[in-house]
Amino acid sequence: MTLYPPAHHCRNPDCAATGPLKKAEVRQVIVYTQGNGALPAHTVHLYCRGCKHNYHHNYFVQGGKRYYYQNTPKYI
Ligand SMILES: [Zn+2]
Repeated sequence: MTLYPPAHHCRNPDCAATGPLKKAEVRQVIVYTQGNGALPAHTVHLYCRGCKHNYHHNYFVQGGKRYYYQNTPKYI
């Protein structure tokens, strides 16, 4: 299982970057489920070189602060 950010483009309306986010990092994580217990997984986060936002599966980081997306994803 691999968890991705909800979009592959920067979501910052003040950012001049237009192309897809290309700088990606992958981390190993554990997904805890009700039906299947703990499962190994990977999470991908994407970095915008234009505005320096770092996009994760359920939040993004701006200036060292974490901001959660409004829509709650299946995995948090
Ligand atoms: Zn950006």
